[in-house]
Amino acid sequence: MKGRVLIIGIDGGTWKVLDRAIEAGYMPNLKNLKESGAAGILESTMPAITPAAWGSFQTGKNPGRTGVFDFTRWDRETKERKIVSSRDLGRTVWDIAGKAGRKVGVVNVPMTYPPKEINGYMVTGVLTPDTNSKFTHPEGLRKEILKQVPGYHVFNLQNVRNGSPHERFEAFLDDMAAIIEARTEVARVVLEKEKLDLFMVHYFASDVVQHVMWGYIDPDCPHYDVVKAELVLSRFYSALDREIGKIVDLFGQGAVFIVSDHGFQRHEKRFNLGNWLVEKGFMEVDEEAFEIPKHVEGIRKVDPLNLRRFIPHGVRKKVAGEKDEKDRYEWEGSKVYSMGRSGEGFIYLLEDDDKCRMATARRIKEGLEQVSDGDRLVVSSVLTKEEVFSGNRLGWMPDLIVVPAAGYTCTGFYQHEMDRFHIVNTEDDFHMGRHHRDGILVANGKGIAPVQDLRTSIMDIAPTVLAYLGIDIPGDMDGKEIDLAGGGS
Ligand SMILES: [Zn+2]
Repeated sequence: MKGRVLIIGIDGGTWKVLDRAIEAGYMPNLKNLKESGAAGILESTMPAITPAAWGSFQTGKNPGRTGVFDFTRWDRETKERKIVSSRDLGRTVWDIAGKAGRKVGVVNVPMTYPPKEINGYMVTGVLTPDTNSKFTHPEGLRKEILKQVPGYHVFNLQNVRNGSPHERFEAFLDDMAAIIEARTEVARVVLEKEKLDLFMVHYFASDVVQHVMWGYIDPDCPHYDVVKAELVLSRFYSALDREIGKIVDLFGQGAVFIVSDHGFQRHEKRFNLGNWLVEKGFMEVDEEAFEIPKHVEGIRKVDPLNLRRFIPHGVRKKVAGEKDEKDRYEWEGSKVYSMGRSGEGFIYLLEDDDKCRMATARRIKEGLEQVSDGDRLVVSSVLTKEEVFSGNRLGWMPDLIVVPAAGYTCTGFYQHEMDRFHIVNTEDDFHMGRHHRDGILVANGKGIAPVQDLRTSIMDIAPTVLAYLGIDIPGDMDGKEIDLAGGGS
């Protein structure tokens, strides 16, 4: 095959919502692409977290080879966390296609900042600091975008800050719809430049909408609300479908892939894993160092989604007088360090002696597997990094991965003055939805057989797209080409 490929990324896309939107008639474009093409489940990485998944998507490699498993990574030597970036990933599908002479355009895909030189156009996505930074390749594209798409933001914090999304309900949904419309306008700037062989645009707002609104749209949730669910579908998902239609038209002839990084599920409580580790004596903290300066408390109130976590700590320290994270721990007395806030908890074992380290791991595993909340167990499993990852970056990975039970997430970061559990609700923690490993895949185009029960890995997309473009698949990818022609039979 030597075709052109369009990829549309829907962050957090799940059939649990999209099928309902299709049935209700709000997503005719997606319906058509799905039903006349191949569709199914796209399994995320473990962990199913945005940077890990999009990193593996772009490279065809598991996080053990990209070194990216969360928004940040802890350095055992310096005891500091570093925000992950495109530099971690090495060679991506964009680089490979470009080297093979194909013209490439990439708009808003997470884990593309800082922008790399590619054979075409790059507009970076989530984890880009702001539009003042160099967020494009070529560099001059930035000016064009800011001129042609006034008010363009990589991710518009303002829309989340303008008050509670639950009180502003419809206005919030309209804001989110406006964000995705602006993405399409940026995509238009790139697509109108020249005919591209490979193009991808990514829509992040679906992840935000689902984190905030999941309780209303999932019939299994106590907050489920028929009227609100209908509004989410009619205001947001119909807008998303309109953008899908526009992009497909703008791109023209070629195959269309619609992919997500992970799906979604109900979220009830956060298990404060860091606090449990302190309570059980595995980790020691300097409580005073966790005190938050008064003016930062104010920032917290206007940033309920905690988006400030994307701001480098150095900047936060300067602006807000926050203590360095590494100065908040008593390292002498700590056997572990733990992090994470999106789903899984990540534990680094710090003892030098192998036997001690293994004994600590065993005690933690045994202890965590017994943690209960009423009559429910909170942790479904504690895995070693070797059980989850493989590859040359294993040394960068946390030693233990704590997988929460359904309904829970693990907060690895120590939570000052908090209990073991934190209930997510609509008032101060807008995360009624959490990620699920099952995301979505639609593939539609010449030579693609219409099957509806695909189940494949996010790491398979890069090799599959390369094969469709007629480019040899490098041998160092973990992913495999999906058999789309025969439908796997
Ligand atoms: Zn998310």
